[in-house]
Amino acid sequence: MILNKFRVRNLQGNFHSSITNKKLKFGIFFKQFSVIGLDMGGTNTCIAVLEPNGPRVIENAEGLRTTPSFISISEDNTEYVAVAGKRVSIQNLYSSFYGTKYFFGRKFSDSFVQDLLKRFPFKIVKGPNDEVYFLSDKDKHYTPKSVSILYLKYVRDQAEALTGKPVKKVVMTVPRFIPQEGQQELKETVKECGMDVVKFIEEPMAAAYAYNLDKNQKVNKFLVFNFGGLNFSLSYLEKISIDTTTSEEAEKTIESSESSKQPDEEREIFDVKAESYDYYLGGEDIDIILTKFLLNEFERINKMDLSKDLFALQRIRDAAEKVKVELSLSQQAEISLPFLAADQTGPKHLNMRISRSKFETLIDPIITKLKQNCENFLKENKIDKTQLDDIILVGGISRIPRVQEIIKLIFGKEANKSLNPEEAPSMGASILASKIKLKIDEIKNLDNLPLSIGIETLGGSFGRIIPKNTPLPYKITKTFTTVFDNQPRIDLKFFFGEREIASENKLLGSVSMVLPLAKKGQTRVSVTFNINNKGDLNISAVEELSKKSTNYSTKINTGLTQEIIEDVLEVSSKLKEADLAKQDLILLKVEADNFIYNLEKLFKENSKLDEFEDQKKQEIEKVQTDISSLNELLKGEDFENIISSYQNLQKDFEKIQSLLNIKNQTS
Ligand code: AMP
Repeated sequence: MILNKFRVRNLQGNFHSSITNKKLKFGIFFKQFSVIGLDMGGTNTCIAVLEPNGPRVIENAEGLRTTPSFISISEDNTEYVAVAGKRVSIQNLYSSFYGTKYFFGRKFSDSFVQDLLKRFPFKIVKGPNDEVYFLSDKDKHYTPKSVSILYLKYVRDQAEALTGKPVKKVVMTVPRFIPQEGQQELKETVKECGMDVVKFIEEPMAAAYAYNLDKNQKVNKFLVFNFGGLNFSLSYLEKISIDTTTSEEAEKTIESSESSKQPDEEREIFDVKAESYDYYLGGEDIDIILTKFLLNEFERINKMDLSKDLFALQRIRDAAEKVKVELSLSQQAEISLPFLAADQTGPKHLNMRISRSKFETLIDPIITKLKQNCENFLKENKIDKTQLDDIILVGGISRIPRVQEIIKLIFGKEANKSLNPEEAPSMGASILASKIKLKIDEIKNLDNLPLSIGIETLGGSFGRIIPKNTPLPYKITKTFTTVFDNQPRIDLKFFFGEREIASENKLLGSVSMVLPLAKKGQTRVSVTFNINNKGDLNISAVEELSKKSTNYSTKINTGLTQEIIEDVLEVSSKLKEADLAKQDLILLKVEADNFIYNLEKLFKENSKLDEFEDQKKQEIEKVQTDISSLNELLKGEDFENIISSYQNLQKDFEKIQSLLNIKNQTS
């Protein structure tokens, strides 16, 4: 580091603010972390956080409100996640994994798994201990857990980037078909991604919360109609009538600590009286029907069968899904797939239009199956449809107008379309997250200081006053002096943490004091830090001459848990190098800026410089050019270039100084 030959221009050097403003997300560990509602679906995932005016669905980096639950492994073993995963799945049909939650807690030989083998295009094989393995084209094996870890880490990063807070806690939806062991495995999977499942909530109940049915007095008996990418389910729920006192009780019971599965507790508000699943009725089945239709159309026009051409097939399948979605809104959808294939006569394209009525004819087998499911459900569970107060929609497929017509036809009632059905479960989970009073194991007694207490020093660095692990109680007095003449005030900010950049730590408070005007170094302020083992910190500052004093008290362990301490230590050690580099850059900039300031002052104060002969004048002009280029560099972050430009300027300065000395001696 270059030695500082010049005094500091002022205490609030304006360089550091622009740098410290770019906060790293980990700097806010202490501030509230996000609890998200997570609905990890078989084909799509949705995340929501609860904000003061209701749940907010978090968009992914591509701006989409739902994120494909895909991991796709390319030929060179690159793992593509989520949107990228779905995109490359077009080339990687057999190495693209999704629907992982179906396999949690299950062995390969499980009849449920055996039944599902035909459902997915990727290879599912038996592991050495009867585990479920997914095989990539390159025969690399994955487990439902390893695929989900890749995926959930991505989801967590997206949520952190959007909320600006670390995501540490999750309320997660689960379908009933996941067994207890599966929930445990899911919990461990989430844990490996640095988050805790504070609660699992069954999908229909999450949806009921999202549609606000817990508060709607007119709704007591209702259906949750869930038609998603991979399956169809119907749930019949009844609200348990509770008076206000018992309602409070019910709220209390959903306070969570380390709960794994406690869906019974929500049943104090909603009771799932009946439920049925069809694992062979989902959006994918519609996509397959449409794909077959498009393949046939292509063959009819071009006399070419593309069913064995994997790449063309996936492009058609992708287009089929888009058409399905578009036809929920429009009466017509356009398909434009140029260069699908080629023969001796040239390239072959698929350009056509499909109407909603044609689409409805094509999906008639799906609709028939759907009707049967609904009728059987009513019959088998002896549900009187006239008693239903509401039918709420979940899952993207429930947006199809024909599906909504069927609901009306069979249940004699319009479905409730007040929410986006794909988003409802995650929204409900986020609402539940807000009801859960997270049990915070606040550290009450402190034998040693768990993290350092310090102040912000020049350039925004963290200057430790009481280092971590100092045995408590502890008292220390430090003296601060003014650094320039007539310094009007002193402002000290106190932080708690281990990051080398002060503002990345927790701000404990600050003291400010107006000072008598005096020469630099003459005014002295002694600051006493006094902390006991209950975490009470008292800071008192006394100006030595006037005896004027000020006080500040705070408690350092409010909301502080062992978990937070561990997180802070881990993140600080990970970012130490980066912080130190940043700190060096800040200090270098402050120093170089001061050097320029003093050099310019020297120019201003020495009119003699103009009296030099031409050659010397050229040297002075060179210094001025060097100042401009250093000033330019100081706007950026290029440490190496700043330091070499600063060193050049120092050499320039030595020359000017000797010129001045010569001049002084001669005059
Ligand atoms: P979900 O499981 O709720 O994420 O639903 C995913 C399925 O819904 C996929 O098959 C999507 O193609 C389908 N989907 C999404 N939006 C729509 C829409 N507007 N109309 C029809 N299907 C849709």
